[in-house]
Amino acid sequence: MDIDFHYYGTMYAALLAGYDQKDAIEIAEAAQFVDEFTPHQFPKGIEGVGGKEPVNCYYTSFDFDTTGMIDQATSWDSTLAKKWMPFHFTPRMDSGDKITIGEVEYQSTIKDPKHLKMITAPTGKIFNLIRTVATKDNVEIGLKMHVLADMFAHQGFVGYRFKDINCIANEVEIIDGTESVMKKITGNMFHFVAIGHADCGHYPDYGYAVYKYKPSWNGKTEYVLRDNPKIFYSTFFHMFNTLVDIKCTNDGSALDEMHKRAAAIKENAGKKLLEVQEMLKQKGVNEFQTNLWYQKICEDFKISHLIKIYSVDEANKPINSTVCHIYKKNHDDSIDKSNTKLARFETAARKHYNMVKGYVDFKKI
Ligand SMILES: [Zn+2]
Repeated sequence: MDIDFHYYGTMYAALLAGYDQKDAIEIAEAAQFVDEFTPHQFPKGIEGVGGKEPVNCYYTSFDFDTTGMIDQATSWDSTLAKKWMPFHFTPRMDSGDKITIGEVEYQSTIKDPKHLKMITAPTGKIFNLIRTVATKDNVEIGLKMHVLADMFAHQGFVGYRFKDINCIANEVEIIDGTESVMKKITGNMFHFVAIGHADCGHYPDYGYAVYKYKPSWNGKTEYVLRDNPKIFYSTFFHMFNTLVDIKCTNDGSALDEMHKRAAAIKENAGKKLLEVQEMLKQKGVNEFQTNLWYQKICEDFKISHLIKIYSVDEANKPINSTVCHIYKKNHDDSIDKSNTKLARFETAARKHYNMVKGYVDFKKI
């Protein structure tokens, strides 16, 4: 997923869950910032977070090149995998040899339970913990929404270099859309490293894409179906429900009153959920669906001045228009550096990292 879903999709889910515009933006910013908190953007760490090395949760090609870490990222216990997996490739922690993609269960040829456990999927204990996250901090809520979304988008891949799971036969078959029927996966510079979904290119990130591919976890023998509109809708549905539950819990009232309120919000959203389901089938500009989400937010919530936000790696973006810039400015302008969006994000990232680490136990995997 990209800024279209992580920023605008998350914002729409938060607004639909009853958050006001300011809170929804704060949640969306944090969800997007998970893709921007790189050591490259923050080479000196963060002032005011106690001098600790920050838990950077994203690494760009630049970071890979300069640190050389990618060469070592061959297991969960590598430096890169540890920093990256808890945020984008959260493991399912289940060693069953069936792998579910969308709604279909496939037989895997992988036998090693350690690798099977590390496969990303929107199931298991960590997923359930994220679904029931208890926090009042919008920044932490946003971070969790990114992790939740990536557990759906990156299902069937592992976050370290492992060709027996991550590689795919070199063509995907497009089932829907305007492209030619078979599309060769080319032009991806990380294609050869077999880390995460790199071998599958950007396809897992396009909301509208429906395609088939042959993964190496079944010996590249059988096609698996990726119906992204369905997967993205399922993601949205879980994000929305999670946000409603968090909001109603935080608003505070007797338990049965809270359940009633949450149920009413979920029921009222029925029509909008159907519209989102339909919207996800449409191709946006440049493959991503930012323009569709943007329009929908403005129209459905009567917002006339929604500031456009760009991802840090987008070319020709206006200066000062990234979440990274907003976070840096907010931090620089604050006298108390311990409670800025950036400091809160780092605290939330560290907490999340430690939670996942606790489940996985790096040394034993
Ligand atoms: Zn991610």
